[in-house]
Order: sequence, then C-alpha cells, then structure tokens
Amino acid sequence: MPTGGFDATRESILRCPGLRVPHAFSTRQGGVSESPFASLNLAVASSDDREKVLENRRIYTERAAFGAFPRTAHQVHGVSLNVAESAPFPAGTQGDIILTNVPGLAIGVFVADCVPLLLHAPDVAAVAAIHAGWRGTALNAARVAVAALQETYGADPRRMTAAIGPSIKGCCYPVGPEVADAMAGLPDPGACLKIDQDRWKLDLQEANRQQLEAAGLPAENVNVSGLCTHCREDLLFSYRREGARSGRLIGAIALPA
Ligand SMILES: [Zn+2]
Repeated sequence: MPTGGFDATRESILRCPGLRVPHAFSTRQGGVSESPFASLNLAVASSDDREKVLENRRIYTERAAFGAFPRTAHQVHGVSLNVAESAPFPAGTQGDIILTNVPGLAIGVFVADCVPLLLHAPDVAAVAAIHAGWRGTALNAARVAVAALQETYGADPRRMTAAIGPSIKGCCYPVGPEVADAMAGLPDPGACLKIDQDRWKLDLQEANRQQLEAAGLPAENVNVSGLCTHCREDLLFSYRREGARSGRLIGAIALPA
C-alpha cells in the first residue's frame, strides 16, 4: 500500500518518519463505525452513533500511545490560535491552530480533505497542530503557526520539523477562480495550481510545503505525506467524495510525557 514516506505499519494510524515526537495521523481503518462512517470516524458532531465514535477515539488514543484523546478546538477555517495548557479549553473555543509546551499533552485537528499540519520545535520543546483548508492556506496558516511558536516560546524556524498529513491533492481538487486567485501570494503558485480541462486544480500539500519553507524551515525538515484523501477511499475519509456524511480523521502531536 503506497503511503508516501509515512509509516502505516500500525493499523489505524500513519506516522511520519521525520517527526521525532509522539504523533499520529488517523486513517479510516480499524474502528467500529458502520458505513458511511466505516470505520474509524472520530467526529462526535457527525450523525454517526456517539458510542461508536467514543470507542473509535479510545482505539485511536491507544494506538497513538497518547495519554488521552487530543485536545481540539472548534475549527472555523481561520488562523486564530489557542495555547493549550493543562486545563481544558473553555467550551466553544474556536481556532485552527493549537500550540503547547506541556509534556504529554496531545493536541490535534480534525480533517476530511483539509491539510492536517504538525510542527515540532525541538529547541524550545513545543509543538503545534494546524488545520489548513484552502481558506487557511490562503491566510498562510503555516506561517502564522511558525511565527506563533517563535513569539510564544522563542523557537527558531531553522530547527523546526513539519509533517504535512493526508489531504486532498491536485489530482482531485478542482477549484474556482476565486480560490486560484487566493493562492497568488504563494512563493510558486504554478507548482500547486494546474489547469486541467479548463478548471484549476489545487494541491494543498504543495502550497503548505512552500509556505513552511518561506517561513524559514529547511526543505529537508518539511515532510509531505503525498497521500490524497480523495484517491484513497480504502484508507482515508474525504468530504468531497462522501459529502456531509463523511467521517473525520485527526492529525495530532504531543511532546513526550
Ligand atoms: Zn487524488
């Protein structure tokens, strides 16, 4: 099974070989939900059976070897951020970027086509989880997160490592001209936008890769899964493929406990 450079030897999760702290991108495999959520749907907010989702979260947490299911916020396709401390976020907390320097505290973002982006700043022992769809990418969520690690903890981008998890890619993501226009600020728009049968197609992973490099990460520290959620129905959920009844994946990271 081709899984980019990411290691899928453990059922249910994908790991990035270059990221040297606990982390796990979920797949749709190994859970208990039934179609269309089969089987490792992690979203309580879906119309899936709540008890099954909670069991899926338990399975994921165990396979990821986290102490608890990751801390998440209500994602709104923006670039506002939350710093996770030991206490939980207040109910209804919104934001698409989470940072923490609390050892053992997993933080994560839900996705089903958007990019789950994980960052590790080893020099200051801090991590970040970022949700970047086309709107977040247009707002340069990757750079906002890198800057937040710098400003909050004093991290050096040249030391950071990034993992870009499974998302929809250029093979499967036709976008309108307004989305193509929103990518004009990228370092190399032509590398992530292609014309195919008179439609633009956008590669969100390449766009985020460019933004991380522009934010100061060395190219060799930016790990790209290359996995397309829309192509890989066997492995991943895709909102574009499955619609409103799509399950949700998570990408999450923690410092060692
Ligand atoms: Zn595809």
